[in-house]
Amino acid sequence: MRVDVLTIFPEMFSGFLATSIIKRAREQGQLAVNLVDIRNYARNKHRNVDDYPFGGGPGMVMMAEPLFLAVEDLLAGRGRERPPIILMSPQGAVFKQALAEELAEQEHLILICGHYEGIDERVRQALVTREISIGDYVLTGGELPAMVIIDAVTRLLPGVLGDPAGAREDSFAMGLLEYPQYTRPRSFRGLEVPEVLLTGNHEQIRRWRRRQALERTWRRRPDLLAGLQLTREDQEILAEIAGQAGDEG
Ligand code: SAM
Repeated sequence: MRVDVLTIFPEMFSGFLATSIIKRAREQGQLAVNLVDIRNYARNKHRNVDDYPFGGGPGMVMMAEPLFLAVEDLLAGRGRERPPIILMSPQGAVFKQALAEELAEQEHLILICGHYEGIDERVRQALVTREISIGDYVLTGGELPAMVIIDAVTRLLPGVLGDPAGAREDSFAMGLLEYPQYTRPRSFRGLEVPEVLLTGNHEQIRRWRRRQALERTWRRRPDLLAGLQLTREDQEILAEIAGQAGDEG
């Protein structure tokens, strides 16, 4: 996958791109990130990319022209190929695992990082194809959201994770929060690993994990259960969990 990132702070990405799984994905050719400094497309001698808002008000607004020029440059000579042009924006659709999976199907993404008070509305009107928010809070710029998206999408690309089963069982991938995980030692400061995980009985372990995932989701994120197609086994387990919680309460 190729990702072009339009930013006024390309240096923010250096540690991120040179570390861990993202670094390896780039080295293995699964991910190519092209950082585009929006200031290179400013047509004034101070390389300003912001200006005062029409109508007054606080702060500065990112100008439309440098962003249009930068995207046009990226698309020049690419024929009819039109990758998603995504604006990082607290006003966008909230980023979820399902959207990460959808974006991972693309060969090419263009991510635009905003700054200041925001972006000239004409960028929304005539340049971007979608807006993504990473949550209901306001950051100073779109660079962290762009890194969040690149990270979540990259680990879904074929061959990036050593064991792809890991990504399939992650929280959200199955619609549920993930079950608890343990590693050695078996006993740590008096805290024991659940016996069932030591039995080697795959069916019992599967059932235990499913129950844990259902229980965690039921307690912490019941909203996730509403959109799920539950098996008969799941429904029985949930009825049991609800019954036990009723007894406890
Ligand atoms: N005044 C804008 C508004 O209320 O929508 C917020 C501008 S914010 C200070 C500057 C930039 O940071 C935005 O243009 C966007 O690119 C990025 N940003 C801030 N919060 C974000 C979030 N939750 N998700 C995605 N991008 C965000």
